[in-house]
Amino acid sequence: MGWSAEQTGAVTQDGPGGPGTETAGAPAEAAGAGTEDREGPRPPVALSPSRAGDFMQCPLLYRFRVIDRLPEKPSAAATRGTVVHAVLERLFDAPAAERTAAGARAMVPAEWEKLLAKRPELAELFADDTADGSTGDTAGERLATWLAEAEALVERWFALEDPTRLEPADRELYVETVLDSGLRLRGFIDRVDVAPTGEVRIVDYKTGKAPRPQFAEGALFQMKFYALVMWRLRGVVPRRLQLVYLGSGDVVTYDPGEADLRGVERKLLALWEAIQRATVTGDWRPRPTKLCGWCDHQAHCPEFGGTPPVYPLEVRPADGAVVPQGRMGEI
Ligand code: SF4
Repeated sequence: MGWSAEQTGAVTQDGPGGPGTETAGAPAEAAGAGTEDREGPRPPVALSPSRAGDFMQCPLLYRFRVIDRLPEKPSAAATRGTVVHAVLERLFDAPAAERTAAGARAMVPAEWEKLLAKRPELAELFADDTADGSTGDTAGERLATWLAEAEALVERWFALEDPTRLEPADRELYVETVLDSGLRLRGFIDRVDVAPTGEVRIVDYKTGKAPRPQFAEGALFQMKFYALVMWRLRGVVPRRLQLVYLGSGDVVTYDPGEADLRGVERKLLALWEAIQRATVTGDWRPRPTKLCGWCDHQAHCPEFGGTPPVYPLEVRPADGAVVPQGRMGEI
């Protein structure tokens, strides 16, 4: 297909999360995306892949993140993903011949320092008082181990793709579109490659491992979401979707068709209707799964004996049957 050296970069720049599937940390995937740029509680105005995934996983989790905007503890895995993501983005600032594994590894500590300067609270990830008592590691040792893990992920990427033969059209591309229905979709795409023939490839980096085949559709959902947005924005269905799993060294590709993307649009519309219904009724139901183990909000979750905060939005009584939100994961 020729996504390689002859590309000239002609286009201008602008899950559900268990530990094995975390994103490389694009800003839009932070909790609260889809409702950013606002003060105080307000109904959701847009959908991003991560927040769609939240609602499918657990409507109450969606509420806590998007409506209540409850704080969440920094995660070492997600933060590592953010640093790796930054390295893989900025590596392309250098001329092709200088995009080496050694150079990329060397960028990791500097990207961590930059992130820490912006978010000083991340220092607590490696503070002595959070050290694992079983290992007795000091903060410095924990940080060194974490940086080495990030460097290993960056290095693994060079076995999967060759950045000296790639000239991305876009990196960390913010995309947003409004469907005919009025639903606003938005998000950040890690990388967009455009072949000389004009074919578009959407690439997403994952710092986790590739999911087992029975869970692969969930990961592809995010990519199809982006493909739908790009199709609506540029009028052309992306030729290929590519997930690069740095944790396991796998590359998963999928070539979508128009029918695929129309199906995704229908699913998103059904999801958005359910979100809007829950927003006005205040009926956000918990949907416990194994992923609750990674949820920061058990203290507020009735499934774990907690009580949610007072619902901050105006509630309108349901006019009849309320969609059973606990089934939305099947959408
Ligand atoms: S603990 Fe589980 S059920 Fe409760 S809000 Fe979190 S994800 Fe939902």
